[in-house]
Amino acid sequence: MKQRIRALEQEAKSLEPDAEERRHYRDQVIEYGEQFLQRLPDMPAYDPAYREAERLLDSGITEEPFDVRSVLDEIRNSVDRPGINTASDGHLGYIPGCGLYLSALGDYLAAVTNRYAGVHYSSPGAVNIERRLIRWMADLTGYPSTAGGYMASGGSMANLTAITAAREHFGIRAREVENTVVYTTTHAHHCIDRALRVNGLGECIRRHIPMDERYRMRAGELDNAIREDLRRGLRPWLLVGSAGTTDAGAVDPLNALADVASEHGLWYHVDAAYGGFFMLAGGTGHLFDGIQRSDSVVVDPHKGLFLPYGLGVLLVRDEATLAEAHRYQADYMQDVQEPGGVRSPADTSPELSRHFRGMRLWLPLKWHGLRPFRKALEEKLELTRYAYRQLADTRGFEVGPEPDLSVFLFRYMPDDEDPESFNRRLQQAILDEGQVYISSTRINGTFMLRLAILSARTHLDTIDRALQQLREKAGELLQHT
Ligand SMILES: *Cc1c(COP(=O)(O)O)cnc(C)c1O
Repeated sequence: MKQRIRALEQEAKSLEPDAEERRHYRDQVIEYGEQFLQRLPDMPAYDPAYREAERLLDSGITEEPFDVRSVLDEIRNSVDRPGINTASDGHLGYIPGCGLYLSALGDYLAAVTNRYAGVHYSSPGAVNIERRLIRWMADLTGYPSTAGGYMASGGSMANLTAITAAREHFGIRAREVENTVVYTTTHAHHCIDRALRVNGLGECIRRHIPMDERYRMRAGELDNAIREDLRRGLRPWLLVGSAGTTDAGAVDPLNALADVASEHGLWYHVDAAYGGFFMLAGGTGHLFDGIQRSDSVVVDPHKGLFLPYGLGVLLVRDEATLAEAHRYQADYMQDVQEPGGVRSPADTSPELSRHFRGMRLWLPLKWHGLRPFRKALEEKLELTRYAYRQLADTRGFEVGPEPDLSVFLFRYMPDDEDPESFNRRLQQAILDEGQVYISSTRINGTFMLRLAILSARTHLDTIDRALQQLREKAGELLQHT
């Protein structure tokens, strides 16, 4: 029997490369990352080479290993080329990403040491780092000392968890759901609606409150809608405001919404997944005033702090609401539940085993310091105002409202073509060129192009290139009609 165990051990040990083998893998991976970053300025922001992506599947998973280089080659051609290059400075669509290098090193360290970040008993250091980071973000929001939070994988998961906390706080039962009312605008992110359904609240009534001419919720209309619902005997319970909508980058009047929510005793949630970290930039205080009066807020470090995808954060005014919503009992956990001890992610979220996500935020904040983050965010705001002015002053282009943050709407108005078909062609011409990526949306049924500026890598040269392409392509399209 021992002989058989030893034989298995011999084979199993290839899962633990020794120092020399580790170097072999590591050097090639680090070199790959280095080459990627060095080539990045010349790589397209968009490459529709879908067939390459499919070819990756051909090699499959086999009993015998592949050599390191052939697998990296496959990744280079089939993963890191086709589609939107979200690491590129030219990514100006949706909400751009970036992917800070120091964050990647944080992920590497967190994975090598593999600390169990779900439970304080297991890894007090990892849990404390995340608690410090949550406290830092709660301070930025202006929350009191009772605040807490949850470092989730992204904004959608964080919003989902916020709604769980709100539902449990009010103890909403299944049979009551169809009489409960949720208030948003039509520009609330789609993940809110999905979060309601996933939380078993799909049957609650949604009221879409009218917006002003800059796509911000009208607080007066909100108040009217709530009063009307109360008269009908319904149960208003949740208000979702936006601090930076995906469509137009608009920030709702957070203070006025807080007045209404507190008057009627609603849970006031602010989705600041895109816009929240602009609180770090100078001159934005007036936009965010009132956020400190909310019950919960979502901010996405993988947007506004330029991290690689995989981190969205829920902050709650009162950590006890999260703990109450996620309480559990399990005999095999009896060792870890320290009475009166520090609350762990496992106590305040749906997760148990989890990646130590705090490290990917801690390292860049510690090693860069906060200042370059503030300056980069201020730079994005200035770039946005600059691009907006430039397009507004370019003949033929029509711009949407003055941007609150770093997203704005625009389109070209041709003399004798349907604007939608022309702007679709304009967008396609830009994508075919591949140097910048821009996306579109529909505002009250009207097809609009958007510019969204949020990558740490996007600077003035990129924006000038994007503006030049828009002008050139619009001119070429006019000539060919
Ligand atoms: C991006 C975004 C979300 C969703 O966040 P993910 O991190 O993509 O899951 C939610 N709300 C707003 C306003 C967003 O911009």
